[in-house]
Amino acid sequence: MSKYIQTEGIVLRNYSLSDSDKIAVIFTREYGIIRGYANGARKLKSKFGSSLEPFTIVSLQYRIKEHNELARLERAELTASHFALASERESFETATYWCELVLEFLPVMMSDERVFRLLINSIKLLARQPKAENKLSCYFVIWLLKLTGFFPSITYCRICKKRKSLKEMAFFTFSGVICSDCAVENKGVNDKVLLESLHRIVTSPPETFISDTYFTEETLLLLNRRCERIIKNVIEERYQKFAS
Ligand SMILES: [Zn+2]
Repeated sequence: MSKYIQTEGIVLRNYSLSDSDKIAVIFTREYGIIRGYANGARKLKSKFGSSLEPFTIVSLQYRIKEHNELARLERAELTASHFALASERESFETATYWCELVLEFLPVMMSDERVFRLLINSIKLLARQPKAENKLSCYFVIWLLKLTGFFPSITYCRICKKRKSLKEMAFFTFSGVICSDCAVENKGVNDKVLLESLHRIVTSPPETFISDTYFTEETLLLLNRRCERIIKNVIEERYQKFAS
């Protein structure tokens, strides 16, 4: 028995299956990431039109069998396209990177309303303000890691394990924060600006954050580097487990 599903989704990527068909990987609001077979989607007069292009927000109808990961797409009506975003190389690369990260960090068919809203809001903001790309990417990555449980705790010192306020912390590393008491040996150098930035990111909605002038390019670069390190570690650990 197949189930008929109607929901909202955002296309993460698509690939051709034959001369006439496509598979679209879609992040749906209620059912998480699905892979949808779109019969005839590559034909000129397809009912899917351009609705299965990456970053497109669609109103979706599909059929899926129990325990089956591949759905059969019946309709995908375009709600918002973001084609302009796809035509700017840097914005396109950034949005593609976000979609890849969602695929990496969120298991298939696991719904997550907060990650769904984070991705949709970030893509909408990126389309409106392509110049804020670095800043938005920093916000997106930190929140994605946080919502999927991969961002280290910033409320507990990773050395003394005590709960402290962000103001009492001195360092932010890829594996957690270190408080001022534990960081005595490194007196003089610390991450106060990064920690304040983190505090602003985790306490503001993206619209407020984007107009916050506290962030310099240098701070964003440093934050992005630490996040890349967290991502690299998670992926490496996952593949080591897979290989062993
Ligand atoms: Zn400590």
